[in-house]
Amino acid sequence: MPLIQSWISTANTADCPFPLNNLPYGVFSTTTLDPRCGVAIGDMILDCAQAEKAGLLSIGDSTIFDAPVWNTLMEQGAPTWAAFRARLTALLAKDSPDQAALSPFLIPLADAQMHMPFRVSEYTDFYAGRQHAENMGAILRGSTDLPANWLHIPIGYNGRASSVVVSGTDIHRPLGQTKAPDADMPSFGPTKRLDIELEMGAIVGTPSQMGQPITVQQADDMIFGYVLLNDWSARDIQGWEYQPLGPFQGKAFGTSISPWIITAEALAPFRVSTPPRDKKLLPYLDEQTPGLFDIQLEVTMQPAGADKATAVTQTNYSRVYYSAAQQLAHHAVCGCPMNTGDLLGSGTISGPNKSEYGSLLELSWAGQKPFTLDSGETRSFIEDGDTLTLRGNAQGDGFTIGFGDCVGTILPAVEF
Ligand code: CA
Repeated sequence: MPLIQSWISTANTADCPFPLNNLPYGVFSTTTLDPRCGVAIGDMILDCAQAEKAGLLSIGDSTIFDAPVWNTLMEQGAPTWAAFRARLTALLAKDSPDQAALSPFLIPLADAQMHMPFRVSEYTDFYAGRQHAENMGAILRGSTDLPANWLHIPIGYNGRASSVVVSGTDIHRPLGQTKAPDADMPSFGPTKRLDIELEMGAIVGTPSQMGQPITVQQADDMIFGYVLLNDWSARDIQGWEYQPLGPFQGKAFGTSISPWIITAEALAPFRVSTPPRDKKLLPYLDEQTPGLFDIQLEVTMQPAGADKATAVTQTNYSRVYYSAAQQLAHHAVCGCPMNTGDLLGSGTISGPNKSEYGSLLELSWAGQKPFTLDSGETRSFIEDGDTLTLRGNAQGDGFTIGFGDCVGTILPAVEF
């Protein structure tokens, strides 16, 4: 599919992140408008609340877009999502008869403050990056052998929804308990090994019922869209606490997501299959539709005072071993109900080359090999004042599906 032309001319270039092919959903406010649902197009946002009030956009009889979340549309399911997207496409396409009526409801992106685009019901984080799992094994246990279950189960843990924040939200360096290998007693204080994890987040739209398993295909149909996700991690806190029940405080202090939900429909041209299986999966995990996406990913790091950011890693979402649909089907197969607004982290995405590692722990090999930024500073982990930015885009035939940056700056630990 080529670039679809819009009457908003800034949407019609090959490198615009928000062409008519994209139509990502966000929540924005301005100095005069309260937070509400909006759709990015070119360098503008369509104010869906005003368009709905004017009778140009509607879903059923009730008004749903004058709200600070997209959850009401998310819960309605794929046919409604498709109808809404088709309506938006018609309104914004070149030669739309509604151009004059819609024009007053376009707000410059530059004037908008972005907010969380949906209410996170629960947050589950997986561990589906194979290279990451092998690197972690090498760093922590001295062996790249995967855990015995890894090739059979999409491993995950239940994280915290309360600390999922939108891009641009600063994160305080977390406090916690750590223990040096040669120390007799643990100590308390700010983490010394603050890290990122480059992930994709999948957002559940339609819910499932308690006690009712779902197939991988049903799971795929339930996914509303995707965001970039930075699963901030305190490696020293994690290292002391994680056995036997897995990550806890080392992950609970913050998770950042990009501000625009990129719909599964917008990403449809970029579907790719999961990698070849080393071990045959149990049938309930069989992939029915290619469940990954060809999305280029990048992370940059910028120290406070540096005049530009340095790219520290570049990889691709298609590196992941299990798709979000497989993870969601696995999550529900025991009878666990999945809800509108559930957020699934893919797991850290690392490719086979060093330039593709998705965490600083891997890039610096646990601090043994610090790397140098363009400013001349070296890093093994994050220093106070550093800004980390995740970027993602899918490259189409003459168009780009952009995600919008996922940015976070680290502030010093709070006084306690
Ligand atoms: Ca993670």
